[in-house]
Amino acid sequence: MADLGIPHNTIEVLQRHNFTIQKKFGQNFLIDPRVLEKIIRAADITEEDWVLEIGPGIGTMTQYLAEQAGEVTAVEIDRCLIPILEETLSAYSNVTIINADILKMDLKELAEEKAKGRSVKVVANLPYYITTPIVMGLFESHMPLKSVTVMVQKEVADRMQAGPGSKDYGALSLAVQYYAWPEIAANVPPNCFLPRPNVGSAVIRLLRHESAPVKVRDEKKMFRIIRAAFNQRRKTLANSLGNAPDLGISKERAASALEELQLPPAVRGEALSLEQFAALSDLLW
Ligand code: SAM
Repeated sequence: MADLGIPHNTIEVLQRHNFTIQKKFGQNFLIDPRVLEKIIRAADITEEDWVLEIGPGIGTMTQYLAEQAGEVTAVEIDRCLIPILEETLSAYSNVTIINADILKMDLKELAEEKAKGRSVKVVANLPYYITTPIVMGLFESHMPLKSVTVMVQKEVADRMQAGPGSKDYGALSLAVQYYAWPEIAANVPPNCFLPRPNVGSAVIRLLRHESAPVKVRDEKKMFRIIRAAFNQRRKTLANSLGNAPDLGISKERAASALEELQLPPAVRGEALSLEQFAALSDLLW
């Protein structure tokens, strides 16, 4: 099987199928075998795993995954890629290709049908225009996820990994860290893709926590507070919460909850840890 990670082979397949690259689907194909190997290593795939790949493209990474995993299911939105995938993956009996939009799939049902008690690992070179809904959708899907190893925009990887006080810290950091332990595995420059994206990329591994790292009475409500806290980054937390119309919390109530938590009255959202947001949420609702 030709290694599609070699640029020449990717170009040959695309030309032979007369394929037009679709920007609207975030298509940037990986053309660097060293990066592919790094992703596979970071994902730590074994024969015991069912792997869900989002956006297989022409099947470059899918081939690597199929060599390591018990079974791979690859979900691709662009129907013009399906005949290409059928060709490039024909040698692998453990790969299923599904032509669908990942955001519209019932992931729990898919995992029940496919995983059959095995660990679920997600691996993908994500379409950047929908990174956040895909990642959050995976964690909120209630499938037995073990890890998510994905290529994302470098800036998004930094935000996922950031802690309190850093400029990158925000609602995405807290949402990801509530579910998983993030670790950047590699930085990837634009010349590793065809076509080259305008931004730098990074591979990040999100290792799912076995149990939530904080206890909170209502996680949905905590995330509403977190979103409001970072909606107006420059305001104090008491002002941001008091100004958020959908929360129904007065500025005074927010201020007294902060006092109870022994936080300074002018504290901003970016200074609070996940534990502190959980405590604040329990006090306010
Ligand atoms: N995995 C390939 C690689 O590494 O060369 C392609 C990665 S490319 C960055 C993103 C892929 O996701 C494209 O194949 C694109 O068509 C697909 N895609 C975009 N939106 C999708 C969606 N909503 N559901 C499933 N696949 C999607």
